[in-house]
Amino acid sequence: MWWPAYKKLRTLVAIGGLLAVLGGQEVYAIARSTPSRPAAGGASASSAAGVVKLGGIDYVDAAAFGKKAGLKAVWIKAGERLSLRSDTTRVDLEVDSREVMVNGVRVFMGEGARLHKKTVRISKIDAERLLLPIVRPASVTAAVPQLRVIALDAGHGGRDPGKENKKLRVNEKTFTLDVVKRAEKLLTQQGYKVVLTRKSDTYAELGDRPAAAARAGADLFISVHFNAVAANVERVSGTETYTMTPQYQRSASDSTRDSMDAIANPGNVNDHWNALLGYHMQRAMLADLKTSDRGLKRGRLAVLRLATCPAVLVEAGFLSNTSEAKKIATAEYRQKIADAIADGVKAYAAALATARK
Ligand SMILES: [Zn+2]
Repeated sequence: MWWPAYKKLRTLVAIGGLLAVLGGQEVYAIARSTPSRPAAGGASASSAAGVVKLGGIDYVDAAAFGKKAGLKAVWIKAGERLSLRSDTTRVDLEVDSREVMVNGVRVFMGEGARLHKKTVRISKIDAERLLLPIVRPASVTAAVPQLRVIALDAGHGGRDPGKENKKLRVNEKTFTLDVVKRAEKLLTQQGYKVVLTRKSDTYAELGDRPAAAARAGADLFISVHFNAVAANVERVSGTETYTMTPQYQRSASDSTRDSMDAIANPGNVNDHWNALLGYHMQRAMLADLKTSDRGLKRGRLAVLRLATCPAVLVEAGFLSNTSEAKKIATAEYRQKIADAIADGVKAYAAALATARK
């Protein structure tokens, strides 16, 4: 018992860490000054800044990132799972996984966490544009957006019914409009000016939706949708939230890279605030609806790509799943979805307020 622990201690000290064994858990705090590491195929300047290139991608030390964000690094399982914690925040990372649990909410990073020289690393873009805005919005250097006008976008409409459950004779476009109208009431009561991209069963081009929001001076864009799958319909259910994929990253559904990843889109101006918004929206949906957590994901969906303000797309539930579709078909449950959207906005607004201080 002592010898392996001692060996591990020596190794961690050697890489600039201080190891303590507390209640069976190995806790390490990183040294105050980052030791110089050999440049791993990168310039020595980036090595000094603690950045290493792994597979062509800039990675930073997860523990050092945590320290800057006021979080302490704790191994859950040495070399495999690392937790970054404070009294109020918990970020659980897993080596070789893009999934990270942030305060119990599933979040998909653009790149998997990696173990490099016994140190857990996360991509620089995920650290700066996904995790930092969520765990410490006050540390984001990008200008904090105002929040007065909210655009609500009911997915589909008119000749586009969206997803359908033919057995139950229900479709997406009807429910998205109903939820949006309920959310409009709640957000108006909260004092926001609310605009809708469609107010009736009409068709609107995808590009026209963020354009209408921009014309109305929207500070926030919320698109409401319902999901469906073609196979395993009764096994797939739950809630997922999308925000725009940052430049140079893969969308959650992509296992490989493509040339489109390098393009900067209008929606990327708000990467930081998109992350904060998406997290609070997914968290509020899960808390209010008690649905299964399919995660905060990123995708280059047209309405998110073209949005000029922080934007989110909520897939509240699956119409292909009989029991979930039956719930969604009730006015009571759709009111709950609207309540969750309003709660998500409230939490996002509170987080923005901490960033403004
Ligand atoms: Zn849809």
